[in-house]
Amino acid sequence: MAPTPDSLIRLTAAQMSAKLRTGEITSVELTQAHLDRIGAVDETINAFIHVSGDEALQTAAAVDASRAAGGAEAEQLHPLAGVPIAIKDLIVTKGQPTTAGSKMLQGWMSPYDATVVEKIRTARMPILGKTNLDEFAMGSSTEHSAYGPTRNPWDITRIPGGSGGGSAAAVAAFEAPLALGTDTGGSIRQPGAVTGTVGTKPTYGGVSRYGAIAMASSLDQIGPVARTVEDAALLHDLIAGHDEKDSTSLAEAEYPEGRIPSFAEAATTKNVAGLRIGVIKQLQGSGYQAGVLSRFQEALDQLRDNGAEIVEVDCPSFDYALGAYYLIMPSEASSNLARYDGVRYGTRVLPESGPMTIERVMGATRAAGFGDEVKRRIILGTYALSAGYYDAYYGSAQKIRTLIQRDFEAAFERADVLVSPTSPTVAFPLEDKLDDPLAMYLNDVATIPANLAGIPGISVPGGLSEGLPVGIQFLAPAKEDARVYRAAAALERLLNDNDEPPLWAQVPALEEVTR
Ligand code: GLN
Repeated sequence: MAPTPDSLIRLTAAQMSAKLRTGEITSVELTQAHLDRIGAVDETINAFIHVSGDEALQTAAAVDASRAAGGAEAEQLHPLAGVPIAIKDLIVTKGQPTTAGSKMLQGWMSPYDATVVEKIRTARMPILGKTNLDEFAMGSSTEHSAYGPTRNPWDITRIPGGSGGGSAAAVAAFEAPLALGTDTGGSIRQPGAVTGTVGTKPTYGGVSRYGAIAMASSLDQIGPVARTVEDAALLHDLIAGHDEKDSTSLAEAEYPEGRIPSFAEAATTKNVAGLRIGVIKQLQGSGYQAGVLSRFQEALDQLRDNGAEIVEVDCPSFDYALGAYYLIMPSEASSNLARYDGVRYGTRVLPESGPMTIERVMGATRAAGFGDEVKRRIILGTYALSAGYYDAYYGSAQKIRTLIQRDFEAAFERADVLVSPTSPTVAFPLEDKLDDPLAMYLNDVATIPANLAGIPGISVPGGLSEGLPVGIQFLAPAKEDARVYRAAAALERLLNDNDEPPLWAQVPALEEVTR
């Protein structure tokens, strides 16, 4: 029986790839099924800022033609050729608008592609469009977007996490099988946790940042968003690698075996026997919901019962991670965002009256173009960097960053991977934390340390609490991204080792939630 459009969108990316290869389905069918789904549900979900249906179908038709041609042309197709993808609107794309979720870049078209986008085009994955985010990736709920909030497919009265809520919700709602995100303090992993999807923050430098609109350059990292660990790994394999256009990009030779290992291969891991898993003492307990902690404990029990060695590790400096992050990140952001001056590109707003000086045009543009959260962080960062305060704030935060790196080093002496809940709570109601920046910032308490240390992390679904997804986070030393895939794949398999459909397949039908 031919797969129906509804069953097509519910396949994993790996299954889509296999069915495309055997000719059981075409990329045009697959891409059209996703565009139809976007048409049916995205008015409610608002995962996309821009949908590029024509372009996606053109790519799909070309892939189908290559496949039909057979011979070398078909053989040379990348495994993900013809599998559609969505791209966080912080990553620049030629021929499609890039807004960063801000009015500042409304209508702006990048003259070039980000390196990851180039790789996606070379692999010939149809690009479905650009996904919603908190303005300039600042937030944990996607409510700080100038294009309206994204809703969580598990409960449309709740947030999908942020800043990459659009990518996570699109994947959770079967609008896309794969997506790209960016993670500066948790923006791939925390949305993954609260939407029941998988998201990886690669090792800093492991994926080129060329063409990712900079928020905090020493923390930003592009990574994959998917429904399964294997799918995330397949996409990670495609986007990883050295890029001479990114001065912080790692050379292959810097990896432990002198090459980047296959993450998809790591994701085939079935057992955890002998794996030393460190539970971070500081990332549990007060502030974490009881239901989140229960799922976390059950995950640990499963891992232990299947031969993992669970140890507790102490990372005392983590208590200061959030404070250090909210000095370093705004400092870097205040500098990066200085380029939006109303002169070179993007929005320009002229002062209503008075002299038309460049300073006044800049002032009017930035007052109108940036939202409150972005302004808050620019003010904070500018203050932290100002003469007289630099040592007290920025300097101290950098010292804490070093202490956090040392805590990780000590922890990885005792454990191969570390584990924690990804987010302290399940998805919270829209508007719940919108007027309380500190409450919003606390969502990232468990994800931020990895960015400060430049190490890889993944969030994998760990079950439900109050009917909403809970995420489990694994962390590994820098350049050991394969380890997070091994641990996450093993846990995913253990948790799905029953008659029930996997968690990602249990999302309520949107017809039901939109009622
Ligand atoms: N939520 C965090 C913040 O607001 C992380 C954002 C991100 O990773 N881009 O800064």
